[in-house]
Amino acid sequence: MRTKKRFAQHWLSNDKIIADIIEAAELSHDSLQSEAIANSRVLEIGPGTGILTRQLLPKAQSVVAVEIDRDLCKKLVKKLGQIENFLLLQGDILSLDLDSLLARAPAIFQQPNKVVANIPYNITGPILEKLLGKISMPAAVPYDLIVLMVQKEVGDRLYASPGSRAFGALSVRVQYLASCELICDVPANCFYPKPKVDSAVVRLRPRPIERPADDPRKLEQLVKLGFSSKRKMLHNNLKGLKERDRLTQILEQLDINPQARAEDLGVAQWVALSNALA
Ligand code: SAH
Repeated sequence: MRTKKRFAQHWLSNDKIIADIIEAAELSHDSLQSEAIANSRVLEIGPGTGILTRQLLPKAQSVVAVEIDRDLCKKLVKKLGQIENFLLLQGDILSLDLDSLLARAPAIFQQPNKVVANIPYNITGPILEKLLGKISMPAAVPYDLIVLMVQKEVGDRLYASPGSRAFGALSVRVQYLASCELICDVPANCFYPKPKVDSAVVRLRPRPIERPADDPRKLEQLVKLGFSSKRKMLHNNLKGLKERDRLTQILEQLDINPQARAEDLGVAQWVALSNALA
């Protein structure tokens, strides 16, 4: 099967990884099987040749797949079109109005509660925002869980702990909205054609925000500014906001070392700092 570069197509071809993804999606537990199935309406982004789709279908109540490539859609319809709990939408996941399209579909396809996808890496950021929302506008109806194949480097950021090198603005933005964990690392040779980068499967669980910022838009801007120059100390990145001594004082009041760098602050500290700077 030929691939189109502009759609970032790399076919997953490793049964063990596929099994790990399916397991991470918590579709069926032994004793709870029927209940778990009734509870899994899956959204898949970029089904490609359907390798993952095929395994999801028997374990989920329904699978809605969104694929941009018309040629692939034709093939998918031939392969999987007869399966009752499968709905294929041709289009761009970023511009498609999923809610209104699904409102007209049979009930089993409405309001998918899980996302399972090996996504096109060139639009990872926008996909994350589409699925989770953003600090200033979290998703109105959050998914129960989201299992994604991402570029390893991005995965590292998603589940990074504060203080580690990988902890960046993306870590704060995503961890504000969801808890994140690594499911498995995926070497580049698990795909055909082999991509230049390694991958990782991550699981995100959107959750109620423990302590929302007083002004979420302010927090969003603060995080952007705080990480604007990673090598600098945080107070240097923030010096436009407050006079230097005042900023040091605020950091000390929050028990944040005035020498700290942006990556040293966990989500709760970002929230506290945003509130204190108001
Ligand atoms: N899930 C498959 C394919 C992954 S490759 C597998 O694991 O083998 C990424 C897939 O996303 C491709 O099928 C590509 O055509 C599709 N894609 C790329 N951009 C897209 C977009 N904006 N909206 C929906 N699908 C897209």
